[in-house]
Amino acid sequence: MEILEQMGTEGHEQLVMVSDAGSGLKAIISIHDTTLGPACGGTRIWPYKSEQEAVWDALRLSRAMTYKSAAADLPLGGGKGVIIADSHTEKTEALIRAYGRFVDTLAGRYLTTTDVGTTGRDMEYVKQETDHVVGLPTTAGGSGDTSIMTGLGLYMGMKACAKEVWGSDSLTGKTVAMQGFGKVAYHTAHHLMKEDAKLVVTDVFDGALDKASELGLKVVKPNEIYDVDCDIFAPCALGGVITSDTIPRLKCQVVAGGANNQLLAESDGEELHRLGIVYGPDYILNSGGIINVESEIAGEYNPDRAREKTERIYEIMDRVIAISKNEDVPTAKAADRLAEDRLKSVRRIRQVYRSN
Ligand code: NAD
Repeated sequence: MEILEQMGTEGHEQLVMVSDAGSGLKAIISIHDTTLGPACGGTRIWPYKSEQEAVWDALRLSRAMTYKSAAADLPLGGGKGVIIADSHTEKTEALIRAYGRFVDTLAGRYLTTTDVGTTGRDMEYVKQETDHVVGLPTTAGGSGDTSIMTGLGLYMGMKACAKEVWGSDSLTGKTVAMQGFGKVAYHTAHHLMKEDAKLVVTDVFDGALDKASELGLKVVKPNEIYDVDCDIFAPCALGGVITSDTIPRLKCQVVAGGANNQLLAESDGEELHRLGIVYGPDYILNSGGIINVESEIAGEYNPDRAREKTERIYEIMDRVIAISKNEDVPTAKAADRLAEDRLKSVRRIRQVYRSN
């Protein structure tokens, strides 16, 4: 599909190609939708094989941000920046600051933050060029590590799923199998352990497994995680792990994790629904991170406000389950409907104001 045709079909507003010969910057900023507020989303640094691949990724990721913020009830639209580079070998202060100057030219239509390949330190460089940046370290007055709130939100989402399946949101005695024991899983585990849930974890990185062992958690090999006899399966590493190959192996009644894009295909969400496995849609359950940075925008970061809003993920998941049951649609589709309904209603109000 041609780029403008795809933008028209999926509702993207703007695509900006930027280049700075001096620093070697080649980047793309995609603004999907600003109905609810400025487009917000992280900047990803990745060695894309082609410009085309980078453009599709920016378009896809910015659209996902619109849905995530809309469902989380945030006054934000969806945007994303991608820089074509290797973050380990090509990231320099000059490159990041050049990028910050381009973000500034968008005059607040796009607010950037961290993503794969960028850190809070990089956002400090961006801040030297523009005010349209969030996700700064706490030492720089920002909201700091997003995975703390993402972990809390995931835990709240798991509880809402538990209430639906077992009639109580208590996770005491429930077994949770976690795929990936990085930052998000670690913070979620902290809440689960306080409630005496049993954890079985895996990771491909020895450092992560050492952390799990320190907490006394049961560890299995990466490929064995799908077969663990558990109540909740929590993908917390990569996307595309819920597939027609892995679903028949799952023993759980709930799939609820922090990873983005867990379903390989829409049909995998339909299959979970058909099997009666409650799926907590990824962008609902992992929205604690964007909620955290949003509470930095209003002025001084307020952790209590961020926490209170993150805890509301429980109610949002409740609403997703209600839509799924009333309309007999998979929860992934119900989440999209929740986000789209909010966008439509705000667009309608704007229309009324314009015509008056
Ligand atoms: P992380 O890098 O700290 O942790 C991911 C862990 O998964 C790593 O320890 C890695 O070794 C492990 N892993 C990778 N491949 C694996 C495999 N095949 N099997 C088992 N383990 C594997 O990242 P994170 O910040 O914890 O994020 C986890 C997921 O949540 C990612 O998909 C991320 O995009 C998503 N997410 C994170 C946040 C956040 O605030 N950090 C917010 C929203 C979504």
